[in-house]
Amino acid sequence: MHRLNWLLVGWLSLQPLAFAAAESQCYGTVGRGRLEGGVKLPTEGPNFKAYSALGTTAGRTYVHSEVAEIIVSAYAALAKDKPGNWYVYGETGWESGGRIRPHRTHQNGLSVDFFVPVRDVDGKPVPLSTGVTNKLGYDIEFDAQARYADYTIDFDATAEHLHQLQMAAKARGASIALVIFDPQFLPKLFATPRGPSLQKSLPFMKGTPWVRHDEHYHVDFRIPCKPLADTPARPQKSNL
Ligand SMILES: [Zn+2]
Repeated sequence: MHRLNWLLVGWLSLQPLAFAAAESQCYGTVGRGRLEGGVKLPTEGPNFKAYSALGTTAGRTYVHSEVAEIIVSAYAALAKDKPGNWYVYGETGWESGGRIRPHRTHQNGLSVDFFVPVRDVDGKPVPLSTGVTNKLGYDIEFDAQARYADYTIDFDATAEHLHQLQMAAKARGASIALVIFDPQFLPKLFATPRGPSLQKSLPFMKGTPWVRHDEHYHVDFRIPCKPLADTPARPQKSNL
């Protein structure tokens, strides 16, 4: 085999290990925190993809290693249970956490934005088109009927996703601390087969969030973090 091929085989076989081995450490809270050993979410899989190559290249899709495991296993469960569905995730955070504008939270690797799963005019599940023309998806506005351009929000697929995230978190001894979704769409979500149990078991934000969450739902995971004060001192720069 050509040397380059061997290198490639070696690189590929190392990928799952690299993904699984490193354990992240979060500090502080989602609103004021940081992250050590952040893990970059895989950019795509059989039933999911990242919102933007620009955003992933810029380093805006890092999470706590446990969160990465939860997200990937939830997508795997969905691929098995609901093979036709498409999912797009949005911004998460920096590799080392901290403020990531324009988000107010997303600071310690535990916050994730998921774009709503949608169906096209023919009722076929398709990935929501997120690009520079709509600020990487965040500028998309769904109307009261949950429609935008050719897309309609698939609340059933949304509920299945939240259910699988909840199951995957539970299986790893974690949980979901908060879900933010447009209050006008919650009744539609709760009207799905999974809806009543989600309504009972998930902490949906009450009241109006600071930005409209119609094109995405925001999820904070609950994983124990060290206090922010435990932060080891940064190495001092030299006399310069
Ligand atoms: Zn968010």
